[in-house]
Amino acid sequence: MSLSTIPKDLRRLRACLLCSLVKTVDQFEMDGCDNCEKYLNMKNRIDSVDEYTSQNFDGMTALMSPDDSWVAKWQRINRCVPGVYALSVSGKLSTSMVRELRSKGVTYRSRDTSQKS
Ligand SMILES: [Zn+2]
Repeated sequence: MSLSTIPKDLRRLRACLLCSLVKTVDQFEMDGCDNCEKYLNMKNRIDSVDEYTSQNFDGMTALMSPDDSWVAKWQRINRCVPGVYALSVSGKLSTSMVRELRSKGVTYRSRDTSQKS
């Protein structure tokens, strides 16, 4: 199993707004999001990384075997790559991105479950 999705550094971490994968800014810029790259195109585009990931997130859970993890099902990430995921991500994708995702058959749900206003 590749562990390239595990954050290499605990500083400058960001969470993907679409799947809540947590990595460093550098990792997002270098590899994009391992789940959403084909939709979000963050590779080598730091402005996209800025837009589609958030530095405000709560809690982290490690996902090792997505298929049999109840946490994964609960977090709706059971089809995602192994890695570290945020439990709640503040921030939202832009309306135009949400529309673009919908046209590709992806339903975006906010990852913000913190219930804070
Ligand atoms: Zn993602």
